[in-house]
Amino acid sequence: MRDCKEIKQWVRNKYGKDIQVYIYKEALPNAVAIGVIPPFQAIIVGRPLWEQLSPDDLRAIVSHEVGHLFHNHTFILYLSSLLSAILFIVSHFILYEYIQEYSEKLPDYLIPMIIGLEAGLLALLTWGLFHQGVVERRLEYAADHFAAKSVGVENYAKALKNLDSIMKGALSKGSLSHPSLLKRLKNIGYSPSNESLRV
Ligand SMILES: [Zn+2]
Repeated sequence: MRDCKEIKQWVRNKYGKDIQVYIYKEALPNAVAIGVIPPFQAIIVGRPLWEQLSPDDLRAIVSHEVGHLFHNHTFILYLSSLLSAILFIVSHFILYEYIQEYSEKLPDYLIPMIIGLEAGLLALLTWGLFHQGVVERRLEYAADHFAAKSVGVENYAKALKNLDSIMKGALSKGSLSHPSLLKRLKNIGYSPSNESLRV
């Protein structure tokens, strides 16, 4: 891990906040914001970004991470994953295991109820994971807005597209927690004129 003084200085000048910015030595093709409490918050930038993005693009990507920290997204995500974890532990390890263990000893007429209960737990768990994905996607959009406002829509869109090529199209595809690049660009009000964007 390497301290990144220039970007840290830029963040201080731009946002008036001291946030640690580190370059992660390994080939992590991404940037992340970590830490729940301000003095322990930091932005980690993967080496490929540091090496391949222009200084402007790098700042734009860092702005997105600053957005996550400014809006306490790390704390919201922490609470949200804690809730999912509790839901998972309660539904799977406690109730499911309990049902498995005692179903042998229960009378037959209770079996449909048990199956119903298990299905309900599964639905609850699926909802929990889905909800987690929805929360994460909303936070992504909010951080994109923050970054686009900070560095300008065009500049931020360019940085996202360049990041997408470093990530070999991973941004274009999107994931459970991240909307596709096209949706993210639309969200910041960027219209990709004649360019072809993979969805
Ligand atoms: Zn993000």
